[in-house]
Amino acid sequence: MAMCALWAQSYWTTQFVGWSGPNSWVGALSMGGLLRFERANYAEDAGGWNHVRYATPGGSPPGLWSEVYARDRDGGPLRRVGFAYAHIDYGKNGTMVRNAVYLPHWAAVVLLAVAPAVWVRRFFAASPWKAGRCKSCGYDLTGNVSGICPECGAVVKEKT
Ligand SMILES: [Zn+2]
Repeated sequence: MAMCALWAQSYWTTQFVGWSGPNSWVGALSMGGLLRFERANYAEDAGGWNHVRYATPGGSPPGLWSEVYARDRDGGPLRRVGFAYAHIDYGKNGTMVRNAVYLPHWAAVVLLAVAPAVWVRRFFAASPWKAGRCKSCGYDLTGNVSGICPECGAVVKEKT
């Protein structure tokens, strides 16, 4: 839900959250329907946490799209929908390197929605509270007629 709100908001308000240490910085940017995650091996002027918000710039293409096309020059077919990667080596010697990953907000929404769904599904698939299994130890009681789990001795109500 929060990601959906951020997505809608990104079309008029750009937000950047970053952190810079003495010799590295990381940042996340939300602009015009695209997200950018960056990591660099040099310090930014503003050390520590940094949060900036400003009106999303227009232009053609608007927002981050021009940057995506400029930085990820030989991007694959997924670049068309907003997935891109950029590696910038300012000094050409590895001392000032900036890596960026771009993805559309909808992809983040899908990821955030799918992850809990997969987790819940796994949880129930692996849980012993499935029909035909002992409720205390998960032992498979298929064919059990005694009503007592042979593995742990628990009384099993449902005979299978
Ligand atoms: Zn048992």
